[in-house]
Amino acid sequence: MSCQNESKDGIAEEAPEEVKPVIIEEFGYVLNDYKVIKDTIQRGESFGEILDRHHIEYPEIYKIAAAAKDTFDIRKLRAGKPYTVLAKNDSTERAQVFIYQPNKVEYLIVDFTDSIQTKFGRKEVKIVEKTASGIIESSLSEAIESQNLNYILAHEMSDIYAWTIDFFHLQKGDKFKLIYEEKFINDTIPVGIGNIKAAYFVHKDNPIYAFNFITDSTKNVNDYYDEKAKTLRRQFLKSPIKFSRISSRYNLKRRIKYYGNRVRAHRGTDFAASVGTPIMSTANGTVTESRYKGGNGNYVKIKHNSTYSTQYLHMKKRAVKKGDYVKQGDVIGYVGMTGNTSGPHVCYRFWKNGKQVDPFRQKLPSAEPIKEHLKDDYFVYIGPLKEQLDEVPERYLETEVAANLSTD
Ligand SMILES: [Zn+2]
Repeated sequence: MSCQNESKDGIAEEAPEEVKPVIIEEFGYVLNDYKVIKDTIQRGESFGEILDRHHIEYPEIYKIAAAAKDTFDIRKLRAGKPYTVLAKNDSTERAQVFIYQPNKVEYLIVDFTDSIQTKFGRKEVKIVEKTASGIIESSLSEAIESQNLNYILAHEMSDIYAWTIDFFHLQKGDKFKLIYEEKFINDTIPVGIGNIKAAYFVHKDNPIYAFNFITDSTKNVNDYYDEKAKTLRRQFLKSPIKFSRISSRYNLKRRIKYYGNRVRAHRGTDFAASVGTPIMSTANGTVTESRYKGGNGNYVKIKHNSTYSTQYLHMKKRAVKKGDYVKQGDVIGYVGMTGNTSGPHVCYRFWKNGKQVDPFRQKLPSAEPIKEHLKDDYFVYIGPLKEQLDEVPERYLETEVAANLSTD
């Protein structure tokens, strides 16, 4: 026992230093000057009811509402959103300022101390660079969630590697490392993820680096390249749907019970997803068909160049029409079960020179590489980032860190 108070050994305790009041500022006000009431809007609660509770009379409330109306419609207060009332620090406890926070960063001030003034404000957002790593046990989202990392990171990774890694078939033991920016207000409250500066993903023992690099600073064009300055993009996305699973692959010898176990070739790849999930074009191209037809149901076909076309069947709703130009990743429709299908999915068909082929067996071309004259700058830029990535421990085992700390 070593942590006992020394005063019992007869050493006089020092007189406590005079406590200086801590000045607390928020929303541009010194909170110490007010009686501060922080609460959240209740369901069905109105602006008037809140002010009434804080000793503002109704004629005054109408005046405030009318004066604020050009900046803010007081009927738009949403249940569950936080608000702050700054009231007089005397026995009247009369409200003087009402502050509403529609989200974590922005706020609206209605100040009726003297005249009625309204203004919008934004909390200062601090960007902190962070690192993370993980090993896939069952799924990427599990690896992210088990470490209390922001779930957006899983989405960002699947975007960065959308062309190079099949995220529906991650393997146990696949791993990742990230250098990314996280945004905070008040130094502690996370409000989102910024740029993913660098990533490293090992899939089936193949490591793939990804570095975000600005290739045109005036237009703020940036993209991800590997450690050899090769683009991670391919001409085609691996899947027309984010986060789904393949329920049936391209298979010329497929047998179906329903048809008496006879061979019914499946020339598409089925991606199961719930009704309404957005379907993306897997590459840039022009819509050549968008219509309803028999077994296909609602479908869209896109011609990408003289060699390749893709086709998307069974949509609930189509979002493009014949002749439209679409970019890779654009939403062209929504998953449904129109036509000949037993459940909601998109049947993705990949045409090469007028014949349907298995997209997963094609050697598909890469997108544009990084420009030659940018390469030197690129290598200088990624040098320290790569070192930093390599030094990120393979996994933060928080429980182990905690155990080590407590043994001291
Ligand atoms: Zn199919």
